[in-house]
Amino acid sequence: QFILPRSLLARLLTGGGNRVVHAVNGVSFVLHEGETLGLVGESGSGKSTLGRTILHLHTPTRGHVRFDGQDVFELDAAGLRRFRQQAQIVFQNPYASLNPRKTVRQILSVPLALRGLPPRERRREAAALVERVGLSARHLDQYPHQFSGGQRQRIAIARALAMHPRLIVADEPVSALDVSVQAQIINLLEDLQRELRLTYLFISHDLGVVRHLSSRVAVMYLGQIVEIGPTEPLFRDPLHPYTHALLSAAPGQGRRERIILQGVPPSPLDPPPGCPFHPRCPAAAGEVCRTVRPALTDRGGGRWVACHLTAPWAPAAGGAPRGAA
Ligand code: SF4
Ligand code: MG
Repeated sequence: QFILPRSLLARLLTGGGNRVVHAVNGVSFVLHEGETLGLVGESGSGKSTLGRTILHLHTPTRGHVRFDGQDVFELDAAGLRRFRQQAQIVFQNPYASLNPRKTVRQILSVPLALRGLPPRERRREAAALVERVGLSARHLDQYPHQFSGGQRQRIAIARALAMHPRLIVADEPVSALDVSVQAQIINLLEDLQRELRLTYLFISHDLGVVRHLSSRVAVMYLGQIVEIGPTEPLFRDPLHPYTHALLSAAPGQGRRERIILQGVPPSPLDPPPGCPFHPRCPAAAGEVCRTVRPALTDRGGGRWVACHLTAPWAPAAGGAPRGAA
């Protein structure tokens, strides 16, 4: 029943318009089928906006998201229904996303009905779904408030699975949970991915979790992807100065010297010209950084970086940056 997809292609490019807040601007990437792409960056960097735009929960001022080669913003009603079935979202706060007046059975019956299952099959599949996420059939007639945070997230995952999705955008899915519970939910997500060949866009500010779960990582700063690449090379040897700073501030992500960034991230209402990171960049290379926006460029090995420095930058011992434009 689970239809094995051909290829999954999501490409996003937004921008344009003068009075628009460019929460996400000039972002382009491909999601490979069956992978987990981790999306990291400070809060306000546009991670959630990007996730929701991919699912067509936001409509960008311009740009494309292609799914199986089809632009999701150009789908007709039937096509959009199919896309919405195949691309699901799991939110940070499972309590807010579950209707408190509905039992688990009722919550799950909505997507199962959308798939056109008759009542008897809906009952059978609802029981199978709760068991698949580690709950049991006796939970079906309980209400969200009767569950712990971790159990509620299991229910939210079951609801997403009920649609037989291929892509799941997980927006900080474990951030609200106790650390011990986080590991269980992460394990569940990994098991489901293996069994169902799911593709995840995993949004998180927890770099340890992202490193564990993701095959590739995209780093966002002020609405742009500044670096994207395979997880281990990116963590071991970040190429973008912002990635350096982000990793250096994360406990347990390397023995790197801590890079303290000056200033606060500028407002997305008033993004700086040139490289969006230039006012805070310890490696800023003068005029070109202040005036020309760097495009994501191929650095080999599947790594893409948006920085005018062509040689890898590393903070020098003693704090003075080195690097060449
Ligand atoms: Fe820093 Fe310039 Fe690279 Fe931007 S383009 S990250 S300002 S060195
Ligand atoms: Mg967010």
